[in-house]
Amino acid sequence: MKTELSETQRQARLRFREFVKERVLPYAPGWDREERVPTEVIDCLRANGYLGAPLPAECGGGGMDAITYGLLTEEIGRGCSSLRSLLTVHDMVTLAIWRWGSRELKAKVARSAGTGETLCALALTEKEAGSDAASVQTVAIKEGDEYVISGGKKWITFGQVADFFLVLARMEDKLTAFLVPSDAPGFSRRPIRGIVGARASLLAEMEFNRCRIPSLNIVGRPGFGLSHVFSTALDLGRYSVAWGSVGIAQACLDACLEYTASRTQGGVLIREHQLIQRKLTDMIVNTRAARLLCYRAGYLRDTGNPAAMSETLIAKYFASLAAVAAANDAVHLHGANGLTEEYSVARYLRDSKVMEIIEGSTEIQQIAIAKNPPGEL
Ligand SMILES: Cc1cc2nc3c(=O)[nH]c(=O)nc-3n(C[C@H](O)[C@H](O)[C@H](O)COP(=O)(O)OP(=O)(O)OC[C@H]3O[C@@H](n4cnc5c(N)ncnc54)[C@H](O)[C@@H]3O)c2cc1C
Repeated sequence: MKTELSETQRQARLRFREFVKERVLPYAPGWDREERVPTEVIDCLRANGYLGAPLPAECGGGGMDAITYGLLTEEIGRGCSSLRSLLTVHDMVTLAIWRWGSRELKAKVARSAGTGETLCALALTEKEAGSDAASVQTVAIKEGDEYVISGGKKWITFGQVADFFLVLARMEDKLTAFLVPSDAPGFSRRPIRGIVGARASLLAEMEFNRCRIPSLNIVGRPGFGLSHVFSTALDLGRYSVAWGSVGIAQACLDACLEYTASRTQGGVLIREHQLIQRKLTDMIVNTRAARLLCYRAGYLRDTGNPAAMSETLIAKYFASLAAVAAANDAVHLHGANGLTEEYSVARYLRDSKVMEIIEGSTEIQQIAIAKNPPGEL
């Protein structure tokens, strides 16, 4: 496996860094406080081709290879994990529509989603159905040339502003995916506020009250909702969350290298204390190991290797734990300052915990990895 970036990938990373430095880093603490990212930054993502970046060009997407997409996700995630979550959900849903939607649905929705003109979100979780996705209670029935959906979804990232939702529902007890536009009759949503991590990710709760959608809005065949359509989406989601976790871990490391090189206690810089060096070393090594696992998952995706999916599970599992560990140590190394809004490490800690819960919690990854151990490297 090649672990060196190509010159084109290096150049792309520099562009992403510049974007994050100018458009994200100075504002991320404010977005976190206000619990929203402004429309203007979403417009900027769109203008730079960062929404739909991994989608093929025929779908209006950027045709980015998996490694470059990973670098984009890492950099945006280093600046603001909430903003990174928009890329994650939008791209995972657009990819699922592109792969499983009918020709008409692709023409109608996937193209505008590929360019980011319309925003997509993923609506899987319900109040009573979390890790056990197969237990969703939202139902769909066919009435004439429409589907009628009844039920509710919770914790939907960017649900406050998305134009389309990929919804998992039960139709004659078969798990089936549907695309619900936000202006469908019977659809309503309300913001969820006050969450501790990913605070600016415009979370929403939604209700489908005999919500009517045209029959072409079914995605894939009845019964293929979880095993095919959502599986495609969640695989990309895990890949994106793995890289986003590397971004948080790197942000913690950057903050700690700077802080420990300027704070003095006991007459020396705190980075001169060996116990501090141990924490820094763990952070450096774990961040690097997480990034290498992401590279490997990306390399397998780019070479069309079917092992990419199981390698992505491993990368997501390790990287999300590495982000939490790095953020926990980062707050600690900043002492009391680490608990204030003056420094970003407290936000990193809150955001990192989300990574361990979304796209399959740590325990769900442990079950999946142990059940399908990977082959030799
Ligand atoms: C910030 C944020 C954004 C989100 N965005 C979205 C989104 O865009 N779309 C969406 O559909 N959902 C979204 N979610 C929901 C997320 O996917 C769920 O929270 C997640 O799947 C876990 O479900 P749960 O919260 O119901 O926890 P539960 O499933 O109730 O789990 C509770 C605990 O039990 C453990 N557990 C559960 N099952 C097992 C098992 N079999 N073995 C061992 N341990 C187990 C879990 O690991 C966890 O620790 C989001 C959540 C957050 C916090």
